[in-house]
Amino acid sequence: MRKLWPALLAVAAGLALIAQQNPDAGFTDTPLLPGLPYHVHDPYRPHPKVVRPGALPGQPPSDAVVLFNGKGLSQWTAAKLGTAAYTVSAGPARWKVGDGYFEVVPGSGDIATKRKFGDVQLHVEWMEPPGVTGTSQGRGNSGVFLMGLYEIQVLDSYHSPTYADGQAGAMYGQWPPLVNAVRKPGEWQTYDIVFEAPVFTEGRRTKSASMTVFLNGVLLHNHKEEMGPTIYRQVPKYKPGPSEGPIILQDHHNIVRYRNIWARPVGQYDEPEK
Ligand code: MG
Repeated sequence: MRKLWPALLAVAAGLALIAQQNPDAGFTDTPLLPGLPYHVHDPYRPHPKVVRPGALPGQPPSDAVVLFNGKGLSQWTAAKLGTAAYTVSAGPARWKVGDGYFEVVPGSGDIATKRKFGDVQLHVEWMEPPGVTGTSQGRGNSGVFLMGLYEIQVLDSYHSPTYADGQAGAMYGQWPPLVNAVRKPGEWQTYDIVFEAPVFTEGRRTKSASMTVFLNGVLLHNHKEEMGPTIYRQVPKYKPGPSEGPIILQDHHNIVRYRNIWARPVGQYDEPEK
């Protein structure tokens, strides 16, 4: 038995060394993935960083940029519509903050995040007032503009007719949503949006902007390309511009409420430069 101990210790040390070198019990005798320096099930492939999800569905995960948590508009500034694109002013956002929400003050102007985003995951909750009035584009109209340019429409489209590419969830003036999944006025609704920014290389567009959008958990747009920045009564047209912009909420002279707004810049896969 005494002679066995060194052998057992050597085996244990060997196993410990293998575990250290191959902590995930992966494989290095498998083929390389095409174009990548990693084997299939590679034990040395870097792991993604850990993100703690919100305690309840819809709550911000640990790495989110919280843009409104129910307590004030410190992350927002006033914005105004320019001739071709939104421009952000230095003035304070003048919308009304209530108990856990804020709402449009009609005529006070649009509001923009102080921070700019390119590719981004965005969560926004919104509600039409219970006694919403008006018709078509005048009935609870607001909007979420990615990069300050690309609108997902906010409107009361529960039982209110308007043109399809202008109803709630539309990529305004371009693509109606795949389905109408709106709730009644007076009920909170959720947008979960994945936006990809356009790419311009040496003044030429090499990638279009695109949107993936869920309304109340229902898919409205599946990586749908924008024809260009949102525009009224005209064909959209791209123009080279910056790779990031603010998220803007629209004052369309109607009262609409918002709450629980957060964003996560979209991460990159770990892959070699092409
Ligand atoms: Mg709008």
